[in-house]
Amino acid sequence: MKLLGGFLLIWVVGILVVELLPKNFTDGWFDGTERIGLSIEQEEKLGEAMLDMVLAGHTLAESERFDSAFSVIQSRLLSQVDSSAYNYKFYLVDDPMVNALTFPGANIVVFTGLVDFCESPEQLSAVLAHEIGHVEEQHVVDKLVAEIGMSILIGVITGGDATVMHDIYKTLASSYFSRLQEQDADEFGMKLLLDSGIDPLALAEFFRKLSEEKADYGEYLEWIMSHPNNDSRVAASENFKVPYTFVPEPFSMDWEQLKSSL
Ligand SMILES: [Zn+2]
Repeated sequence: MKLLGGFLLIWVVGILVVELLPKNFTDGWFDGTERIGLSIEQEEKLGEAMLDMVLAGHTLAESERFDSAFSVIQSRLLSQVDSSAYNYKFYLVDDPMVNALTFPGANIVVFTGLVDFCESPEQLSAVLAHEIGHVEEQHVVDKLVAEIGMSILIGVITGGDATVMHDIYKTLASSYFSRLQEQDADEFGMKLLLDSGIDPLALAEFFRKLSEEKADYGEYLEWIMSHPNNDSRVAASENFKVPYTFVPEPFSMDWEQLKSSL
């Protein structure tokens, strides 16, 4: 009887704790989506405000030829992302920095410098697949919650304070993902590449090129800032097990010519 009483007490306290938590914290706990943090709508609102900041300082790259190739790459990857809660949007900005940034609400900004750096559409796919991993694994919001705090984030989304929003943007653009988050995103990305019929070793090729050419990677390059000499990360990408039955389907596009259209 005492044991039963104890269980009941724990159960009631447990329910109370869940009830007392802000709604944003409990959304999705019981519907299998495991979302802890912001709702998709809140993420999208935050993402849009941040995008305004990036796009205010940049112009979108204009090349119909490249745009259509870029769409082919995106759809090939996204068609293999199972039941995503997100509506992905990709932006290509004119900037020589070798960079890609992922903002809340599945907004991924790719710099033309990154495209130029990639030796093949497969390498660009590897970078995008990694970024999709950060989105699907909720790393972007986790990072913001850890660095900014949930209450400030919610306040900004509902109140729209431009100064605080700018600080949040800076935090997101200049801080690290954790080593574990990077490994997760790499693993997610390589599986996604495999499912999409793209050789996952393209990620290893990209890493190798990064370590060989210490070019102007830029201050905010998430790829370099996150453990630049992390050999285990490079080794993991090189040792990723590709099933021996796997036959990659190469993109049929003239990559060099596409790049020169930018
Ligand atoms: Zn990353």
